[in-house]
Amino acid sequence: MSYCQKVLALVKKTSPHEPEFLQAVTEVLTSLEPVAAENPQYEKMGLLERFVEPERQIMFRVPWLADNGEVRVNRGYRIQFSSAIGPYKGGLRFHPSVYLGIIKFLGFEQILKNSLTGLPIGGGKGGSDFDPKGKSDNEVMKFCQSFMTELFRHVGGDLDVPAGDIGVGGREIGFLYGQYKRIKNVSEGVLTGKGLTYGGSLVRTEATGYGLVYFLEEMLASKGHEIKGKKVTISGSGNVAIYAAHKITQLGGTVVAMSDSNGFVYNPDGLNIEMVQIGKEIGRKRIKECFLSSTGTKFNEDCTNIWSIKCDIALPSATENELNQKDAEMLFGNGCIAVAEGANMPCTPEAIEVFLKNKVLYGPAKAANAGGVATSAIEMQQNSMRTFWTFDEVDTRLKDIMVNIYRKSAEAAKRYGFEGNLVVGANIAGFLKVADAMMAQGIV
Ligand code: NDP
Repeated sequence: MSYCQKVLALVKKTSPHEPEFLQAVTEVLTSLEPVAAENPQYEKMGLLERFVEPERQIMFRVPWLADNGEVRVNRGYRIQFSSAIGPYKGGLRFHPSVYLGIIKFLGFEQILKNSLTGLPIGGGKGGSDFDPKGKSDNEVMKFCQSFMTELFRHVGGDLDVPAGDIGVGGREIGFLYGQYKRIKNVSEGVLTGKGLTYGGSLVRTEATGYGLVYFLEEMLASKGHEIKGKKVTISGSGNVAIYAAHKITQLGGTVVAMSDSNGFVYNPDGLNIEMVQIGKEIGRKRIKECFLSSTGTKFNEDCTNIWSIKCDIALPSATENELNQKDAEMLFGNGCIAVAEGANMPCTPEAIEVFLKNKVLYGPAKAANAGGVATSAIEMQQNSMRTFWTFDEVDTRLKDIMVNIYRKSAEAAKRYGFEGNLVVGANIAGFLKVADAMMAQGIV
């Protein structure tokens, strides 16, 4: 049995009830076979056993008072997975589906994603099973304050710097930051995604969506395609989806479908993205409600059907395992030429197989959606320097980083005999830096 397979068997034994984590580890360890074979010293140093085990897992109680006077209790998490190349970095997710296995898979993916950015950031992730949907601003504030009242002792500008993710946007980051500052009595860049008036960076809001499209552009260019004139389906209508849609439209593409967990909207002539943005970001509306006044736009109440819409490009940007084998076959059958993941692990392993087998260009999440965390690291740089860069300065850096990630991943795939397979390429390119850092730092 190969070293990678031995470690995989170990993870299956120790984490049997964490299917998302197992899915992520299986993909990564399978990709790393040629690297492990070339580096027998890894096994001697127990490198992969250490790589798949979080440095620290924190779980805590989050009690808060609802507007009706009832006491509510949620569970909070922060997993500090790897500090091999820098302070822990990764978002916070507030969603009822959150449990330890989800945070572990996201934290594990984050290690390689952060490494791919080329910036000195380690991997971490956190969150809670709290659902901000349907809560008043006051309730969200109370929850965030209680969450930070425990989290503050585990994070810090040079230690662990959380950001947003599903259910955690500018409003939540503001409440979390306010409470941290109040307890610690310091102004430091302990969170990213902050508002522009208190240490945030321009482009951070747009970064994951824009970065996704910059990556897509590079991937398409490798086969002589461009975004202009293409029809694009984007699942989700949150932070990532909205700004991906924005950039696609700016570059001459047409967004034909978008969704939320209640359904999807569809217009073959193109959706009005501003209506989604205003409705979602300001009105906190459901996607259907954003288009009540639009005649050409149809609504389907099964969000999983979105992949049946004919398109040239698909950008799954809602959540994990939202696009399965059948969806992948439908997309390919309808002429889709490229898929880039805005969400984390949105395509099932069987769906990825369909794309790779049929030569559909496929950009895996840890490469394609790394623009958010890259810009978070740029926010950290500005906070440390006590400075503020212009939109163009940050956007140019973001674009360079995304182009580099594409090239590094494509080159690593080719060097190890998997030309065109960006799954293997991104896993290997991200891993090599982390492995070198771990080897240099001894058995820790
Ligand atoms: P948001 O909370 O802003 O938006 C999430 C969107 O996805 C909403 O439209 C939501 O619909 C939909 N969604 C969530 N869960 C489900 C589900 N189970 N079924 C169908 N739709 C669902 O989150 P983000 O846009 O920030 O994050 C989206 C994805 O991108 C996640 O996988 C996240 O990990 C990843 N990501 C985000 C980054 C960021 O910078 N924000 C960075 C890198 C990755 P509804 O409102 O109905 O729940």
